[in-house]
Amino acid sequence: MYFPQFIPYSFIEKEASHVEGFSPELALVTIGGGKELEEKLVVRPTSETIVNHMFTKWIQSYRDLPLMINQWANVTRWEMRTKPFIRTLEFLWQEGHTAHATLEEAEKEAMQMIDVYTKFAFEHAAIPVIPGRKSRVETFAGANRTYTIEAMMGDKKALQAGTSHNLGQNFSRAFGTQFMDENGQIEHVWQTSWAISTRFVGGIIMTHGDDAGLMLPPRIAPIQVIIVPIWKKGDEKAVVVEAVDSVQKILKEAGIRVKVDDSELRTPGWKFNHYEMKGVPVRIEIGPRDVTNKSVVVSRRDVPGKQGKEFGVSMEPSILVNHIKGRLDDIQASLLQKAITFRDSNIVDVSSYGELKEAISEGKWARGPWSASDADELKVKEETSATIRCYPFEQPEGTKKCFMTGNPAEEVAIFAKSY
Ligand code: AMP
Repeated sequence: MYFPQFIPYSFIEKEASHVEGFSPELALVTIGGGKELEEKLVVRPTSETIVNHMFTKWIQSYRDLPLMINQWANVTRWEMRTKPFIRTLEFLWQEGHTAHATLEEAEKEAMQMIDVYTKFAFEHAAIPVIPGRKSRVETFAGANRTYTIEAMMGDKKALQAGTSHNLGQNFSRAFGTQFMDENGQIEHVWQTSWAISTRFVGGIIMTHGDDAGLMLPPRIAPIQVIIVPIWKKGDEKAVVVEAVDSVQKILKEAGIRVKVDDSELRTPGWKFNHYEMKGVPVRIEIGPRDVTNKSVVVSRRDVPGKQGKEFGVSMEPSILVNHIKGRLDDIQASLLQKAITFRDSNIVDVSSYGELKEAISEGKWARGPWSASDADELKVKEETSATIRCYPFEQPEGTKKCFMTGNPAEEVAIFAKSY
């Protein structure tokens, strides 16, 4: 779907906590066509209100449910501190909005979407996010519950990489979005919304990148293999180019995203650095000697220097394809494993506020039993800059005592400094 970018201010005002939460971040249009507008327009910071305005018209009966839509769009939030990809004033995202007949269905949908994001993060972006529930303080303005995936960046800061909200009936009550159920009763719909944004691109960069540049997981790399031909003397060119073409064709036919850089304006050394910086997972070099040996040289982006280099890999199509596919799989798995090891070695289990302060001051994440108040949560934020990132879905067994108050706690929470 595609909804308008400008939303009447009265729409935003309808849901009280929504307007309260978003007010500091709103961009408003007050003049249009040179005239003061009778009603201000909001440049959408998210689309629940305008979506609900239409849902109210589209939904009449239980037969219209569930209603599920998605839009890819730009949104605007007047952020005071910005950071490329991570926190921008205008960003691109997908936002899903759903309406259901029951609370249970809406809850299932909200959980399913955070699960979809979790799987995408693990299986494609090789980012071992921690899925969980947000604290009340951090819950989306207008939601009953917010689920999140939290990722640890290379500098150990947390990144909220995606969210899924169970909106309950908050927006349907505000907008009168009702349906007639099977028994002829009029009810308000139960809703969810969920989004990931261009922030995720920043997450990929800051999870895997190193001082040489990007390091893209093979499954999402636009170029998986870069082929760099090498020749010195003019008469070497023809044989090398022929071999390069044939290798490119073999890999392409096998479904591998491959590119040849045969520009004569740059040296092979320059190209090596360039594609490393761009994060291309695998490089193939082919020179005159390789052509004679019917083989190629294969280098991995994620293993620097000689260790990541293999000489004499056969050009025979089935051997070459298997080899490259195997390497791409190895790199994908290895990036994920490296990130998991890094994450786990930087999460500290704490059982007192002192221990939390120590962990946070070392730049780590702190995980501990928590049942203290919202005020205590804000105190932690004030004193340590760390916030509750989530109550992770995966919880340790056994009885727990809140590290702040000593009272019984049902869950552990993860605290960290975040972007
Ligand atoms: P929200 O609607 O606040 O739950 O945000 C949905 C998702 O959009 C968040 O989980 C972030 O990944 C992303 N996001 C929020 N604010 C920004 C921003 N200023 N720049 C880029 N991405 C953002």
